[in-house]
Amino acid sequence: MDTLTPNDMSAIVEADRAHVWHHLLPHKPLETNDPRIIVEGKGMRVWDQRGKEHLDAVSGGVWTVNVGYGRTEIADAVRDQLVKMNYFAQSAGSIPGARFAERLTEKMPGLTRLYYANSGSEANEKAFKMVRQISHRHHGGRKSKILYRDRDYHGTTIACLSAGGQQERNAQYGPYTPGFVEVPHCLEYRKADQGWGDVEDYGRRAADAIEEVILREGPDTVGALCLEPITAGGGVIVPPEGYWARVQEICETYDILLHIDEVVCGVGRTGTWFGYQHYGVKPDFVTMAKGVASGYAAISCCATSERVFEMFKDAPDDPMHYFRDISTFGGCTAGPAAALANMDIIEREDLLANCTAMGDYMLDGLHALADRHRVIGQARGKGLFLGAELVADRDTREPAAEKKVQAVVADCMEQGVIIGATNRSVPGHNNTLCFSPALIAKKDDIDAILSAVDGALGRVFT
Ligand code: PMP
Repeated sequence: MDTLTPNDMSAIVEADRAHVWHHLLPHKPLETNDPRIIVEGKGMRVWDQRGKEHLDAVSGGVWTVNVGYGRTEIADAVRDQLVKMNYFAQSAGSIPGARFAERLTEKMPGLTRLYYANSGSEANEKAFKMVRQISHRHHGGRKSKILYRDRDYHGTTIACLSAGGQQERNAQYGPYTPGFVEVPHCLEYRKADQGWGDVEDYGRRAADAIEEVILREGPDTVGALCLEPITAGGGVIVPPEGYWARVQEICETYDILLHIDEVVCGVGRTGTWFGYQHYGVKPDFVTMAKGVASGYAAISCCATSERVFEMFKDAPDDPMHYFRDISTFGGCTAGPAAALANMDIIEREDLLANCTAMGDYMLDGLHALADRHRVIGQARGKGLFLGAELVADRDTREPAAEKKVQAVVADCMEQGVIIGATNRSVPGHNNTLCFSPALIAKKDDIDAILSAVDGALGRVFT
C-alpha cells in the first residue's frame, strides 16, 4: 500500500470532496459520505484509501484496463519515450506513432490509416467530420446524414450526443446538431418494444429496419451509418444472427460508409482484436479508445480504409483539400508508446484466447445463476464483455426496479467486488448488470465475481 500517513490521506479525501467535480456522481451523497479514492492497483485488484481490497470486475469502471493494473512494463515504455521525445504536433510523425499504426492496421485487414486523438468521443467526431467533408467534396454536400442506432452511445460531446441513442442521457443538453438520424436497436430480448411479436429471422429483419429509414430519408442524403459492434452502455446487446451481414449489404447497396465504434470492444475485449471481426464485416471507419492503452495513457484512434483516405487526395485543383483538422494531444507520444507495450502484453500472454475461454466460462456461470435467480431475465455477452438483464417479471420482462439493481451493485461492493449497472437496455432503466473483468482474469476471479453476485441477488431479491 501507499506510504501516505492517515493524516495525509484525510487531507486528500477533503481536497477531493472540496474541489473535484466527479464524473457521473450526484453531488448530494458526497456531502455526507467520503469520496472513494483508489490508491493502488495490481492485476485484477485495487485498494481504496481505507486499505480495503476490491476485485475489479469492470476494468476501471468503464471497460478500460484490459491488461490489468500495475504493469510496470507499460509505465517504463511511456517514461523512456517521454524523456526521449514527448510531443510534437502530428504535422510531423513520431517513432511510436508510426510503429503502432503499422502494427495495429496489420490486425485490421482493409484498414490502413490511423488518425490519433485523445478520447473515444473525439475519435468519433473525427469520423463524423470526415464523412461530412466527403459529402461536401464528392456529393455536393448532400450525402451528409449520419445514422445512429437506438441504445448505442458514441460519446459525450454535443455532436456525439446528437448521434446518441440513449435519449435519457440527452434530456438536459439540447439543442442538438442536425443531420443525425436514429435507426432501431437490435436487442432480440426487447423486440416486443419495437412492436415485433414472434418473428423468424429477427437479425435480418432488424437490419431491414435500417434500410427502411434510409429509404425514408433518401439514400442520396445518407453518408454513413455509425454502430457499436456489440452495444455497451445500452445494455450489452449482442447482435442477432444474420444482422451484420445484412447491414453490410445495405451499406454497399446505398453507398453508405460504415463506421464501427469500437471504443469499448476494440483491442481484445470480446476475444478478437475488434468486435466487428466476429461478424466478417468490412468497415470504412473504426474508432477505438479505452483498451488501446488500457488506461495507461490517453489515446484514441480513428482508423480508415485506403478508399476513405483517397477520397481526400483526389483534388488536383485544390491543394488545400485534405482533412485539415488537428487534435493537439494526438501528437503526445505517451499514447502510442503505451499502446505498443499494451499490445506486446496481449500477444505474449495470449490474452485474446484467455478472454474467449474465460468469457465462455463466465457466461456459463451467469446462465447457471439465471437458473437459480428468476430476476435474471437474460445473460448475454461475448468474451469478457457480459451483462445480466434484471427483470421484475420474466414473462412480461418488466425491468427490475433501479433501486434494487443498485442495491445489488452496492452489496457486491460491500463484499469487495466492483461490478457495474449503468446499462440501459430499456429506455430510462439501468437494469443490466455489467461485467468486464480484465483479459487476464482466471477461473478463481470469475468464481469470486459470480459468488458475490449470487449472494447479492439472494439478499436483495428475497
Ligand atoms: N463510444 C462508446 C461505445 C463508448 O462506450 C464511449 C464511452 N463510454 C465513447 C464512445 C466515448 O468515449 P470517451 O468517454 O473516451 O470520450
